[in-house]
Amino acid sequence: MMGESRTGMKKQERKRVARVKRRGLLERSADADFRVFVTRPIAEPQLRRLAAMARVDLWDDEMPPPQEELLARARPADGVLSMVTDRFDGAAIRALPRLRVISNLAVGVDNIDLSAATRAGVAVGHTPGILTEATADLAFGLLMAAARRIAEGDRYVRGGRWRTWGPKVMLGRDVHGATLGIIGWGAIGQAMARRAAGFGMRVLYLPGPSAARSLRGARARAAGAGSSKAEPRSLRSLLVESDFVSLHVPLTTATHHMIGAAELAAMKRTAILVNTARGAIVDSQALAAALRAGRLAGAGLDVTDPEPIGKDDPLIESPNVVITPHIGSASHATRLRMAELAVDNLIDVFEGRRPRHCANPAVRMR
Ligand code: NAP
Repeated sequence: MMGESRTGMKKQERKRVARVKRRGLLERSADADFRVFVTRPIAEPQLRRLAAMARVDLWDDEMPPPQEELLARARPADGVLSMVTDRFDGAAIRALPRLRVISNLAVGVDNIDLSAATRAGVAVGHTPGILTEATADLAFGLLMAAARRIAEGDRYVRGGRWRTWGPKVMLGRDVHGATLGIIGWGAIGQAMARRAAGFGMRVLYLPGPSAARSLRGARARAAGAGSSKAEPRSLRSLLVESDFVSLHVPLTTATHHMIGAAELAAMKRTAILVNTARGAIVDSQALAAALRAGRLAGAGLDVTDPEPIGKDDPLIESPNVVITPHIGSASHATRLRMAELAVDNLIDVFEGRRPRHCANPAVRMR
């Protein structure tokens, strides 16, 4: 007990020292006209880089600023360095007439009303590419964990239930040789397919709306590019044929609840659903019902709806679900690169350019 509280105190002290250091760093913040509100502590070298160019206001807390505070602190700012937890709907964007750029520390920008930002002349920066491999690593990890009951097995051992080796203990599903259906054939979806190839899996994918309007077109393109042996399918065929279905589409009005009761019913009873995209792409009540009724073997979720998931959410009760707390891109190296890109996007605007990774390239900046 003593040891624990001492460790807790040490952690608190470390956090306090880090905060003081960051405050010192920001006191030397440039006496510039460009003001930036950073909504969470990011990597210090990047905070320092930003402070050399702009006057930085930092929300120095693990928890996000409440919505009112977010708007109050963003009001005098030209730029905001935001997280997926910061909501910029149309009303929020209209209430920030000075704002020129929202630089999101993420590839997904569903926390921002992109059309409202474009109409208001606010550029939206994001961090694509650099988090692709880390997120695919986690997606494949969740697939493995759900298929081979890794998290459940760990709980079983720690719970003192491991009494002997048994021929029927903790049986799961084979990953090697199985069929993986990928919904969202973009950067992360294709990185997932590369991992699947190493496991001898057959890969099916749903063509995206802009890449291929027809299955025949997609097939020709895939063959032409020689990029992979993945086969295009309609959503229904993909769901029917796959042993694992992994979601990698952005959250939009078209993908909201894309996987609902009917889609889950089309999947094999032995199938496993993996979601590292966004929680609301899946109707979570329908998912919980399908798992409870044994109409689906399991799920691996890095994202939930809502986030964080409630303690009494039926998905938490399901032993055949593995849930991680939205950590797809959470490796040391990836988060450093994301902070670097998010700051690059802000500096671009500060220097009079569009952010190099702009999620609304049609914007005519203020
Ligand atoms: P990406 O390269 O833009 O790929 C997204 C793909 O989804 C594109 O191929 C797109 O097709 C396709 N798509 C869009 N709407 C579709 C629809 N209605 N039906 C079928 N396909 C559709 O993005 P990414 O970098 O792979 O990231 C994907 C998503 O993963 C992000 O938006 C984000 O929400 C999520 N993510 C989560 C984490 C995490 O921490 N868990 C980390 C990174 C990313 P078109 O090109 O034809 O439009």
